[in-house]
Amino acid sequence: MTTRAWTRRALALALFMACGPALAAEFQAGVARVKITPPQPFWMSGYAARTHPSEGVYQELWAKALALRDSEGHQAVLVTTDLIGLPRAISDEVAERVRGRFKVERQSLVLNSSHTHCGPAVRKNLAVLYDFNEEDRRRVDAYGAELVDRLVEVVGRALEDLAPAQLAAGHGSVGFAVNRREFTPEGVKIGVNPKGPVDHDVPVLKVAGKDGSLRAVLFGYACHNTTLGGDFYQIGGDYAGFAQAELERAHPGTTALFLMLCGGDQNPNPRGTLEHAQRYGQALAAEVGRVLGTALLPVRPPVRTAVEVIPLEFAPHDRATFEQEATSPDKYRPRRARLMLAAYDAGQPVRQTPYPVQAVRLGADLTVLALAGEVVVDYALRAKRELAGENLIVAGYCHDVMGYIPSRRVRQEGGYEAVDSMIYYGQPGPFADSVEETIFAAVRRVAERVGVVAAPAPPVASRP
Ligand SMILES: [Zn+2]
Repeated sequence: MTTRAWTRRALALALFMACGPALAAEFQAGVARVKITPPQPFWMSGYAARTHPSEGVYQELWAKALALRDSEGHQAVLVTTDLIGLPRAISDEVAERVRGRFKVERQSLVLNSSHTHCGPAVRKNLAVLYDFNEEDRRRVDAYGAELVDRLVEVVGRALEDLAPAQLAAGHGSVGFAVNRREFTPEGVKIGVNPKGPVDHDVPVLKVAGKDGSLRAVLFGYACHNTTLGGDFYQIGGDYAGFAQAELERAHPGTTALFLMLCGGDQNPNPRGTLEHAQRYGQALAAEVGRVLGTALLPVRPPVRTAVEVIPLEFAPHDRATFEQEATSPDKYRPRRARLMLAAYDAGQPVRQTPYPVQAVRLGADLTVLALAGEVVVDYALRAKRELAGENLIVAGYCHDVMGYIPSRRVRQEGGYEAVDSMIYYGQPGPFADSVEETIFAAVRRVAERVGVVAAPAPPVASRP
């Protein structure tokens, strides 16, 4: 670097030191929470093995919102929920009402689900798991309608709460997530694969008031909320619920929001008991707390947002496949087959699904990539390579959890995430081989629209 460039850099730094806090204060931030615990007893979601509704609550479930607005009125609202996954029907309705009532556009609204497997059935999400009677159906529909109201309410209340704020970001790491795609002689099974890719990053966004007091902390992790298994019948938020509760206990008056990242093929390890879930929640909260106490990178305005909804193609299928599947002795395959045959009958076989890809960028300091579905960890690792110059949070489980999103590698390897899970999601089968490239092309487009320049990725081998 030349002397002149150094001088410019020193000048810029001095200017930043002088103006940094003032610039940071140009953000307005608002936070809100609403309880979304279902009435008891209620059918739970995530495991096919459960045979009856819930038996109590070990932890309340919450929808929380963080609203951000810059001095020019650009805004973003991030909503986190202790839920298995929001289906498109709910997200679309919430987005439409939020746009109408609060003038927050779809591109500026992020709706994330923690993927707790101790939460309620959410309308048609994973509908193939259930064979509801009329009363069950009515209760699930009523909860879904109530949930839409609550999500709209929490956005409105966060916007009402807008007040000058200072934002800063950092990263930590915890290690309880393990790659769960275990290679066996019978193919890839859900187990433990210590050699498989993981992403132990814990991104942290600190939101402080003008006086420096902590108002909210948004943090994330790429790991299924499946510490508790299908034999567990109480409602709660799993490790993410414990982490949020612990942070809110340790920092009274703060709202802690958990963002589920690309944990599609990641499980906590070991798992199975409430104590495990508590321990992981405490470990995550402790790491977030540690990061909050370090020198964080200031996050400055403006707010820039972009979304694109792309068609994601399924692998080719034909009617005969589902006619045969309809006669399967399996409990779930005939249900999926009937859905597919009905679509064929209507002349609209399911060939693709709409897939939202969104970017929310704060200054040049932090970008949240919000991807839909159960995104496997390869996506986060690749995004961090391809957008290497950017401070990134890569979230999955946003807007519509319509199935697992395998990478090209996972798609080719097969197994639960690539193939079998699609039965329970009521999808025709695996995505086309092009799934990863199709999504990344959209990632690059939305990133560009918010000003992120895709730096040439360093060679994979040179990364730690
Ligand atoms: Zn899952």
